[in-house]
Amino acid sequence: MPPPITKHASYDSILASAAKEVTKGSMVNAVNEAVETNDNCRDISVALDDTWQKRDHTSLNGVVSATSIDTCKIIVVALMSKFCHCSGKLKNKYDADCQANFIGSSGAMAVAGAKQII
Ligand SMILES: [Zn+2]
Repeated sequence: MPPPITKHASYDSILASAAKEVTKGSMVNAVNEAVETNDNCRDISVALDDTWQKRDHTSLNGVVSATSIDTCKIIVVALMSKFCHCSGKLKNKYDADCQANFIGSSGAMAVAGAKQII
Protein backbone atom coordinates (compact mmCIF):
# COMPACT_ATOMS: atom_id res chain seq x y z
CA MET A 1 0.00 0.00 0.00
CA PRO A 2 1.20 3.54 -0.59
CA PRO A 3 2.11 5.63 2.46
CA PRO A 4 -0.69 7.73 3.96
CA ILE A 5 -1.25 11.17 2.50
CA THR A 6 0.70 13.69 4.58
CA LYS A 7 -2.01 16.36 4.50
CA HIS A 8 -4.02 14.10 6.84
CA ALA A 9 -1.12 13.69 9.28
CA SER A 10 -2.58 16.25 11.68
CA TYR A 11 -5.55 13.92 12.22
CA ASP A 12 -3.41 10.85 12.95
CA SER A 13 -3.24 11.35 16.72
CA ILE A 14 -6.98 12.05 16.92
CA LEU A 15 -7.78 8.91 14.93
CA ALA A 16 -5.27 6.83 16.89
CA SER A 17 -6.73 8.00 20.19
CA ALA A 18 -10.30 7.23 19.05
CA ALA A 19 -9.30 3.82 17.68
CA LYS A 20 -7.49 2.99 20.93
CA GLU A 21 -10.56 3.91 23.00
CA VAL A 22 -12.95 1.91 20.80
CA THR A 23 -10.61 -1.09 20.77
CA LYS A 24 -10.30 -1.05 24.54
CA GLY A 25 -14.09 -0.90 24.99
CA SER A 26 -14.61 -3.65 22.44
CA MET A 27 -12.15 -5.96 24.18
CA VAL A 28 -13.72 -5.27 27.60
CA ASN A 29 -17.09 -6.23 26.13
CA ALA A 30 -15.53 -9.37 24.60
CA VAL A 31 -14.07 -10.39 27.96
CA ASN A 32 -17.43 -9.86 29.70
CA GLU A 33 -19.19 -11.91 27.01
CA ALA A 34 -16.62 -14.71 27.29
CA VAL A 35 -17.00 -14.79 31.08
CA GLU A 36 -20.80 -14.94 30.78
CA THR A 37 -20.55 -17.71 28.18
CA ASN A 38 -18.21 -19.58 30.51
CA ASP A 39 -20.78 -19.67 33.38
CA ASN A 40 -19.25 -16.54 34.96
CA CYS A 41 -15.88 -18.25 35.33
CA ARG A 42 -12.92 -16.00 34.54
CA ASP A 43 -10.73 -18.94 33.43
CA ILE A 44 -11.28 -18.30 29.74
CA SER A 45 -9.85 -20.66 27.14
CA VAL A 46 -8.01 -18.70 24.47
CA ALA A 47 -6.16 -19.26 21.24
CA LEU A 48 -2.99 -17.22 20.79
CA ASP A 49 -1.93 -15.96 17.40
CA ASP A 50 0.69 -13.57 16.13
CA THR A 51 1.06 -11.39 13.11
CA TRP A 52 4.00 -9.31 11.98
CA GLN A 53 4.71 -6.31 9.80
CA LYS A 54 7.11 -8.39 7.66
CA ARG A 55 7.56 -12.11 7.00
CA ASP A 56 10.49 -14.39 7.87
CA HIS A 57 10.96 -13.23 11.46
CA THR A 58 12.76 -10.07 10.37
CA SER A 59 10.00 -7.73 11.47
CA LEU A 60 10.53 -4.98 14.00
CA ASN A 61 6.82 -4.79 14.84
CA GLY A 62 4.17 -7.38 15.59
CA VAL A 63 0.98 -8.17 17.45
CA VAL A 64 0.08 -11.17 19.59
CA SER A 65 -3.63 -11.68 20.16
CA ALA A 66 -5.68 -13.88 22.46
CA THR A 67 -9.04 -14.96 21.08
CA SER A 68 -11.73 -16.52 23.26
CA ILE A 69 -12.42 -20.10 22.17
CA ASP A 70 -16.06 -19.74 23.27
CA THR A 71 -16.95 -16.46 21.57
CA CYS A 72 -14.28 -16.25 18.82
CA LYS A 73 -13.63 -12.63 19.80
CA ILE A 74 -10.26 -11.08 20.54
CA ILE A 75 -10.05 -10.30 24.24
CA VAL A 76 -6.53 -8.89 24.51
CA VAL A 77 -3.56 -7.97 22.33
CA ALA A 78 0.11 -7.36 23.00
CA LEU A 79 1.78 -4.84 20.72
CA MET A 80 5.42 -5.72 20.30
CA SER A 81 8.12 -3.52 18.83
CA LYS A 82 11.87 -3.59 18.48
CA PHE A 83 11.84 -0.32 16.56
CA CYS A 84 13.74 2.38 18.37
CA HIS A 85 14.70 5.75 16.96
CA CYS A 86 16.20 7.16 20.14
CA SER A 87 19.39 9.09 19.46
CA GLY A 88 21.23 7.55 22.42
CA LYS A 89 20.28 3.91 21.84
CA LEU A 90 23.87 2.90 21.04
CA LYS A 91 24.79 4.06 24.55
CA ASN A 92 21.68 2.36 26.06
CA LYS A 93 20.07 5.76 26.67
CA TYR A 94 16.43 5.70 25.65
CA ASP A 95 13.88 8.50 25.44
CA ALA A 96 10.92 8.47 27.85
CA ASP A 97 8.53 7.97 24.93
CA CYS A 98 10.52 5.14 23.34
CA GLN A 99 8.13 2.77 21.56
CA ALA A 100 10.42 -0.28 21.70
CA ASN A 101 9.30 -2.83 24.28
CA PHE A 102 11.38 -5.82 23.25
CA ILE A 103 15.05 -6.59 22.71
CA GLY A 104 16.02 -9.88 21.10
CA SER A 105 15.25 -11.95 18.03
CA SER A 106 12.05 -11.27 16.12
CA GLY A 107 11.04 -14.90 16.54
CA ALA A 108 11.19 -14.54 20.31
CA MET A 109 8.83 -11.56 20.20
CA ALA A 110 5.84 -13.92 19.80
CA VAL A 111 6.78 -15.78 22.97
CA ALA A 112 7.33 -12.53 24.86
CA GLY A 113 3.95 -11.24 23.65
CA ALA A 114 2.22 -14.44 24.75
CA LYS A 115 3.88 -14.20 28.18
CA GLN A 116 2.74 -10.59 28.42
CA ILE A 117 -0.86 -11.67 27.76
CA ILE A 118 -0.89 -14.68 30.08
ZN1 LIG B 1 13.79 4.14 21.55
